[in-house]
Amino acid sequence: MRLKTLEVKIGDLLLGNFHPIRVQTMTTTDTMDTLATVEQSIRCIEAGAELVRITAPSKKEAENLLNIKNELRRRGYNTPLVADIHFTPNAAEIAARIVEKVRVNPGNYVDKKKFEFIEYTDADYLEEIERIRERFTPLVRICKEYGTAMRIGTNHGSLSDRIMSRYGDTPMGMVESAMEFLRIARSESYHNIVLSMKSSNPQVMVQAYRLLVQSMQQEFNACYPLHLGVTEAGDGEDGRIKSAIGIGTLLEDGIGDTIRVSLTEDPEFEIPVCKDLVKRYEPTSNLQLPTSNITEYRRRTTNIISNIGGKNVPVVVADFMEAKTITPSSLQAIGYTYDELTDKWNIADAAADYIYTANKILDFSLPGTLKVICNYNTWLQAPDKEKYYPLFQGTEFLQSTQRSPVMNFISIDVNNHPPAINDPTAVLCLWSTHEQAMPSVRNYINQLSTQNPVIIAVESHDTTIDEQLIHFSIESGALLLDGMGDGIWLMNDPSKLQNTSVSGRTYLEAKNNHQFINNTSFSILQATRTRISKTEYISCPSCGRTLFDLQETTAKIRSVTNHLKGVKIAIMGCIVNGPGEMADADFGYVGSGPGKITLYKGKDVVKRNVDSAIAVQELINLLKESDAWVES
Ligand code: SF4
Repeated sequence: MRLKTLEVKIGDLLLGNFHPIRVQTMTTTDTMDTLATVEQSIRCIEAGAELVRITAPSKKEAENLLNIKNELRRRGYNTPLVADIHFTPNAAEIAARIVEKVRVNPGNYVDKKKFEFIEYTDADYLEEIERIRERFTPLVRICKEYGTAMRIGTNHGSLSDRIMSRYGDTPMGMVESAMEFLRIARSESYHNIVLSMKSSNPQVMVQAYRLLVQSMQQEFNACYPLHLGVTEAGDGEDGRIKSAIGIGTLLEDGIGDTIRVSLTEDPEFEIPVCKDLVKRYEPTSNLQLPTSNITEYRRRTTNIISNIGGKNVPVVVADFMEAKTITPSSLQAIGYTYDELTDKWNIADAAADYIYTANKILDFSLPGTLKVICNYNTWLQAPDKEKYYPLFQGTEFLQSTQRSPVMNFISIDVNNHPPAINDPTAVLCLWSTHEQAMPSVRNYINQLSTQNPVIIAVESHDTTIDEQLIHFSIESGALLLDGMGDGIWLMNDPSKLQNTSVSGRTYLEAKNNHQFINNTSFSILQATRTRISKTEYISCPSCGRTLFDLQETTAKIRSVTNHLKGVKIAIMGCIVNGPGEMADADFGYVGSGPGKITLYKGKDVVKRNVDSAIAVQELINLLKESDAWVES
């Protein structure tokens, strides 16, 4: 069931109030390059974009939106355009007379962020709100007069000093930032408004949207439509996984009227990912399972069984059920490389913790950190009961006469008469084939009266890589974000999987299916911040302000830093918004002028206007000086 929201009109497009979830993207061309922007917009529209956003950093770009719009209309494209505004009310007031929607960021529409902590008295605070009212009201009146819609789009990374001083860098601060602007717009009886609460951290983003819905309902007894997105999600699989977890978790609960998947790729490649996400919710199900209103992360309390549960990071189970044989070299795909010369295993950071072999007993010695799960009857024959643990099918556990004294895995279909298990050695492997699988599993976990650890088991029957990534990310990520899950067990049928994704990537050519599943498992844990096993990249999707080739630079930085486990590196296209939007990154690589890069450590500038030819090396030097570097 979708959340009821008010209806908003953007040109001829209706949004909210149960209209289909609209998909949108943003151009990356220079807004002054009319032809390039028109042509890129057309590629996005042809791919299925229902709204196209274009940056308008200053008055001249805002004015050029007219040329872009006219050319698009001349070529027969009536898709509504959105002007993206930061810092420049003058540009917003021009754009609002031209395009169908303007997006403002309450963190920088009136305030210039100085990263200062200022103590605000109530009177100071009210004075600031009055200042905002004076500066923002003219735009509201223009939008009202011209029938232009508006998005009040808060970004986690660019909250004003005022909000930061009172609420900190929190989901509640994000909500209040938007609510201040929303109240002003409402006081002018202007309601053609969409809101967003973006963050590069899906946990923060999901909590902020839930809080915003609660706040709007409490204060106005109504909800304005919501635009969902994870900012600076990055590229490739990681970008898709982060976006799917953030956006999908909310769509699962009926929250969201329009989505944008921000990838550091050409914008037309975002649209198929949006469509894959949205189609899961059409037609909308009428099933009424409880939704989640968790607005603060707290991990479910569970017993510790071996290395599962309690405060242990969630474990990864590699599924080798279908493998005909398993040899030492098979384990390379899941992070273990056997060196015959030294007779030693090299273990990667993203190495699975368990391997499920179904009915197979292995004829070689396993690495010390890898244990085996096998079917109960096979386990009875297993030679080493400290390495092998049984998997029972539902009630088989209750009827069994022999069990592991340490750890027993029990496979449970939560929708099919799940057995009541009350045994301190039981690890519950939960799955569902129900139409609403994630809410069914969540509901089951919420009703558990025991503290047995839970492994989230998800199977995908999707036929493309992007659909599988989305399926795995939502079904497991939504639970992990809410603190549920002590492990993850992903399965697919590789024979059904087409080799290419919509953006033309041929993932399986280079990596086998076990590696794909293993990487996906670790990426989901990383995106939900439940287990950090690799470097984290926060890269902006680029836009007309971008000062260097973001895709190429991101790839270059990745290739030299991808062994720095846990380090967060932001790669941002411009100095205007980049520093504010890189949120909680440890280091920042930010375009500060043509051919110039400014390097940041946290929020502090460390090296200004470095020549871009040597900037990556300077970043490495900075990582070394900061003790964040290790040799690969
Ligand atoms: S940070 Fe990136 S996407 Fe954001 S305004 Fe700058 S260049 Fe554009």
